Amino acid sequence: MKDSERRNLLLDTANRAAEYLASLDKRSVAPSADAIDRLASMLNEPLPARRSAPDDIIARLDEFGSPATIASAGGRYFGFVTGGALPASLAANWLAGAWDQNSFNTVSSPAIALFETAALRWVKEALTLPSSAEGAFVTGATMANFTCLAAARHRVLQDAGWDTDRNGLFGAPEVRVIVGAEVHATIFKVLSLLGLGRDRVVTVPADDQGRMRAELLPAIERPTIVCIQAGNVNSGAFDPATEIIAYAKAAGAWVHVDGAFGLWARASSALAPLAAGFEQADSWATDAHKWLNVPYDCGVALVREPNDLRQAMSISGAYLLASEQQRDAIDYAPDSSRRARAVDIWAALKSLGREGLAELVDQNCRQAKTLAEELRRNGVEILNEVVLNQVVVGFGSEDKTKRIIASIQASGECWCGGTNWQGQPAMRVSISSWATTDADIERTCRAITTAYRNS
Ligand SMILES: *Cc1c(COP(=O)(O)O)cnc(C)c1O
Repeated sequence: MKDSERRNLLLDTANRAAEYLASLDKRSVAPSADAIDRLASMLNEPLPARRSAPDDIIARLDEFGSPATIASAGGRYFGFVTGGALPASLAANWLAGAWDQNSFNTVSSPAIALFETAALRWVKEALTLPSSAEGAFVTGATMANFTCLAAARHRVLQDAGWDTDRNGLFGAPEVRVIVGAEVHATIFKVLSLLGLGRDRVVTVPADDQGRMRAELLPAIERPTIVCIQAGNVNSGAFDPATEIIAYAKAAGAWVHVDGAFGLWARASSALAPLAAGFEQADSWATDAHKWLNVPYDCGVALVREPNDLRQAMSISGAYLLASEQQRDAIDYAPDSSRRARAVDIWAALKSLGREGLAELVDQNCRQAKTLAEELRRNGVEILNEVVLNQVVVGFGSEDKTKRIIASIQASGECWCGGTNWQGQPAMRVSISSWATTDADIERTCRAITTAYRNS
């Protein structure tokens, strides 16, 4: 391919992407069934025998792929906890794609090694976490939880005289894992991956907002890992970190924080008090693709003591000392070859600055409050205390809830998904995108109210 052809291909792609993003406000948030069918038929083709022209491929991708997407990059997608993609971060992601760097160590890409160090420093500053903590850029909070809990497993067993890295868990002292009743489902998956078992956890009851009840923590003996949560995936509530961490650490336990989106409250001076105390933990998992609005996929694992992470992750085994000259990502991350996620994070934080980040978080929380108030005024029941960016809406019976959610999704006006809140079927609205305007919130409120009244 000639340089000029390649240039045209990339420019054409950029134009198509810009058109796509500009179209989101006018189209249905959910794709039509027809768009999905058309994509499925297009893809129903055996592996082609011959080459295809790159510009035809992109044209096909745009013609069949774009209409079949969920408009989650727009302002009216409130499913799961998703977040959009800041323009600077999206563009940085493209440029880094062109660089095609392998980020596994400093020799494979000295540039990305520098971006990693810088992005890690900024993430810690933004979240006001200890500046000496080490970290890894991973696919998301699930892998960040995995990475942190692998470090925790290593440390608590080493303190008990057991070398997990050499010997695995066969014959190891039992590690007790304490979680709250509202722990995120991905923690269970991670515990099973780590050989700690989903069903062996000790579960501490939660209150009506999903917060772990610190006064019900059991007596702790070593080796123990306590998993707490900054930001319940439904209500947005925070576990009482100060009390739990003081108690757990006095007993020698490791405290891990799942803060996929909630930890970002610490970037706002107005909201930081909600997330106070979490800085005392031993490890933190968070997402960049949620509230920081970095493109998928992007998560960050942070561990207070660099050696705990290094010994659990190092490719050369736990026996070599860290090089004093350079930091190699492969010694801190579960993966080896990786894309340059740090570039997207660096660009997002550079584009927002402290001020922009605080405004993003504040704005989404204000929008959540407004939406909840307006819905309440229209007779819709709100089931949670709206303290952050999450609104849990109650419509009554399971059948009715399903019907109303389906009708909201079918309206194309916005997209919210179902959940279960305190044993009750509910709808969750998660406001986590820079692209959500106040007009989007008004439109969403109308769509929800209409579906509710017509039910
Ligand atoms: C989203 C979320 C996760 C999982 O994050 P992924 O990025 O999907 O891996 C874990 N914990 C909480 C609290 C979450 O909100």
